[in-house]
This record gives sequence, C-alpha cells and structure tokens, in this order.
Amino acid sequence: MMNFDYDLFVIGGGSGGVRAARVAAGEAGAKVALAEEDRYGGTCVIRGCVPKKLMVFASEFATLPGEAAAYGWDMSLGDFDWTRFSGHLNAELDRLEGVYRSLLKNSGVDTFDARATIRDAHTVQLSSGESFTAKHILIATGGHPVRPDIPNAHLGIVSDDIFHLPKLPKSVLIIGGGYIACEFACILNGLGVEVTQYYRGAQILRGFDDQARGMIADHMREKGIDLHLGTNILEMAPAAGDHHLSVDGLVPGAAMGASVRASGDLLATSDHHEGPVWVKASNGSQQVFETVLFATGRDPNSRNLGLEEIGIELGRRGEIRVDEYSQTAVPSIYAIGDVTNRVNLTPVAIREGMAFVETVFKGNPTPVDHDLIPSAVFTQPEMGTVGLSEEDARAQEPVEIYCTSFRPMRTAFAGQPDRVMMKLVVSRATRRVLGCHIVAPGAAEMIQLAGIAVKMGATKEDFDRTVAVHPTMSEEMVTMRSPTRTA
Ligand code: NDP
Repeated sequence: MMNFDYDLFVIGGGSGGVRAARVAAGEAGAKVALAEEDRYGGTCVIRGCVPKKLMVFASEFATLPGEAAAYGWDMSLGDFDWTRFSGHLNAELDRLEGVYRSLLKNSGVDTFDARATIRDAHTVQLSSGESFTAKHILIATGGHPVRPDIPNAHLGIVSDDIFHLPKLPKSVLIIGGGYIACEFACILNGLGVEVTQYYRGAQILRGFDDQARGMIADHMREKGIDLHLGTNILEMAPAAGDHHLSVDGLVPGAAMGASVRASGDLLATSDHHEGPVWVKASNGSQQVFETVLFATGRDPNSRNLGLEEIGIELGRRGEIRVDEYSQTAVPSIYAIGDVTNRVNLTPVAIREGMAFVETVFKGNPTPVDHDLIPSAVFTQPEMGTVGLSEEDARAQEPVEIYCTSFRPMRTAFAGQPDRVMMKLVVSRATRRVLGCHIVAPGAAEMIQLAGIAVKMGATKEDFDRTVAVHPTMSEEMVTMRSPTRTA
C-alpha cells in the first residue's frame, strides 16, 4: 500500500474547505493539510457575506432619525465617515481571518500560504515549490465575480472591490438584478450614494417569488434607487473632464478610442479604473457615473488547477462536475462549495464539507441534501424564502395561496409607507406548506425558523395550530385563515 504524506489535502481556505479540514482532522483523526493562496475565510468572511452584512447595518442608520422623531427623540443624522467605517471593518476582517487560522491550527491541520495545483490523482504541487501526496484531495476554491464581455469592462468594479474603495462615490451604476446587485443598491443608497441600477430582465431577483420581487423593487424605488428594468449597458468609456454626477448627453473621453478589450474574469480586481465612466444604455440614455459596479454573476475558480489534465470534468461555466457525494470523475478527488456551482451559499458549502468527511473519513456515505434550503436577500426590506415560489408551485400542482401585506407597527407609527408581506404556498392535495416567503425587516431571522417547520413537512393546519406571538409582524404567519387565491 502506498504511503501518503497526508490523508487529506484541502485546496482553499474558505468556509467549506476550513470546515472539512478541521472536522476531518479534529473529529476523524485524519492527517490533514490545507493550502490557501489568499486570505483565510474565503469569499464569505473576507469579501462577501460578513463585510456585506456589516455594510447593511451601517446603511440602515440612515432612516433612524426620521423614525426617532415620531417616537419623541430629537436626533439628527451627521455625516457618514467611510474611512472610519472601513477601517473598523477591515480590522474586524483581520480578526476573523485570525480566528479561521487558529481553528485550523488547533485542529492540527498543517496550513500552507500558497497556490496549489493538482499534478495527479494523489499529488498537490504548491507555488512555494513543495509538493505533497494525499490519499484524498478536496477542492474548495470557491468562485469569483465576472464582468460581462463588453469593451472597457475593466472600467467597472466588482463586489470584491467595494470593501477597498478609498472613498464612497457620489454616484454609482449597478449592472445586474441578482442578490449582489440588489443588496448593494440598497446598501449604497442607504449610505447616501446616488444609485442607478440596470437590469436586463423584466423584474429583479429572477427565480424568487414574483410578488416578493415586485414588492422589493417598489420599495427600492421608493427609497430613491433609480431602477431601470429591461435595460442593459451597451458601451462604456472613461468620461472626459471632471464629472461626478449623472448627466445626460456627455461624451466619452479620449481613451474611448483605445477601447481596451475586457478580459472579464481574468482581470485582477485591483485593476479597475478610478474616475468617472461614461455609459451608453440600451434605453438610449448616455450618462456619466462616478463608479460602475458589475454584479453580473460569479464563476467557479477551477481554471489553471490542472483539473482537465487529470480527467476532472468541468461544466459550461467551469464548475467541477461531482456526484451526490461531491466526488469527481477522479475517485480520490472531491469538490465542494461554489467551485461546483450547485447552491452557492456558505452554509451549503459547509454542509457539503461535513457530508464529505462523513462519507470519506467516517465510513458513513452521506449525500448532500439540497432540498428546501432557506435563504435571504439582504435588501431593504429583506426577503426570506424557503421552498417553492407561487409560480413554480402552481406549475407543479394545485395550490392555495395565503398572503397578507400590511404596514408594520413600528414604521407606520412614524408615518412611513413601508409595507411587509407574509406568504404561504400550500399544496391542496397534501396541505403541506410548499413555500414560505417573507418581505420584512428581519425576514432573514424569521425564515430561518419557518424553514424548520417547512423542512419538517408542516401543513397549513400545523401553522394554524401555533399560537400567535403578539404584537409581531410574523404572527400573521399563523393567523391567515382563508386563502387569498387558489390555482
Ligand atoms: P446572480 O447570478 O444572482 O445574478 C447575476 C445577475 O447579473 C442576474 O441578474 C443576471 O441577469 C445578470 N447578468 C448576468 N450576465 C449579464 C450580462 N452579461 N449583462 C447584464 N446582466 C447580466 O449573481 P450574483 O453575482 O448576484 O450572486 C452570485 C451568487 O452569490 C448568488 O447566486 C448567490 O448564490 C450568492 N449570494 C448570496 C447572497 C445571499 O445569500 N444573501 C448574497 C450574495 C450572493 P439574468 O437574471 O437575466 O440572468
């Protein structure tokens, strides 16, 4: 039998890789190594969920003085100091990265600050020159934001860049209508940036419940976001002169002729241009924005790892093809998280990592359960969702829809127009709740708990048997007596 340097070599120190490494080492007693070329913590901790959520908190203070006045407080909004906030934010990220490093160290995982490539089914080559053999290799390299393939796309930034902006722009154009586009539209709007958003489709947040999408779009507009649907960017160029506001009819600057071809995802994120950008849109408008943010999707980090050379199959976007146990076509190599482009969420990558350890190191083959994953979009208001949208459920079987929309007590008292929505999609045949959709402040917290009931297979009658907690917004979830519509 061949002797390996390690039982497991993990490539990638993000949420999925770190969890798998430390559980394999700490709980299953495996000899484990992990290589990370960038910062420990990965997208979620360093340039995703965590800094994004802290920015959501920062942006929400903007509405406080208005509300506070109705509650008898004299409060005025001072200036938002980006430098102070981002300094604090980066210190927090440094702390969290340290936590991730020590979690690995305390579990006995050997870590390498290097880029790893795969040489054969059991060999990992590091950029430091070292190479190691391992019985199993786990690829958990995540994904990266991509720019559309248009000339001068390098003039725009991507989500990774936001946390490193030297100052907040006065105006931003956001391209896209997915999670990242909508969340940053709300965050930047809350921080006082003039936000314009172009989405090429008919409604933002494709794939989510239609009614919830419509409600969020309405609120985003009410809060001042200039949202254009059915609109895309056609051309962009450095703007001439010193323009910082969106002004119709401005002409592109001299660099237009140079028309740098976007190498899209290959661009280093720090490579972006600083200075105003002239944009021509599919609706005919021409405007100048201080910053253009592409939130046009993410691709798996699977290139230049040596994968195709050893027979690992990649899909159209570069995702590593795996089976339900996260095993690739090379039996000793597994892949989890965004690099497999299944459900690209941190807790899912963590689940996949745990299932991998169960399967490979604990002798308990565990397929990953991707059914009924609750999730949230941190727009303002938030959306929390689990299960089928009304549209998908109707296409599947006869359903009853229970839905209520109302002005919540807290903001209604302050005279604000905000509305919230609670919705249950119920199977007429089994009475099971097939989908639950919440648009409300705190919807993410609510859906986590509603998700337990839905995952357990709760029926509408189970919801009805539950006594309301009063006065709350979520009590409406258990007090909707008659269907709003049947289909
Ligand atoms: P999404 O895939 O959610 O959205 C990409 C958006 O860009 C879509 O609106 C898409 O339009 C649009 N788009 C794609 N290509 C182009 C193009 N060439 N020109 C114009 N528009 C284009 O990706 P995100 O980057 O927003 O997020 C990536 C993933 O990260 C999410 O799917 C999610 O899994 C995860 N995430 C989760 C969060 C959370 O849980 N709260 C927060 C942030 C990210 P169309 O709809 O027409 O395809």
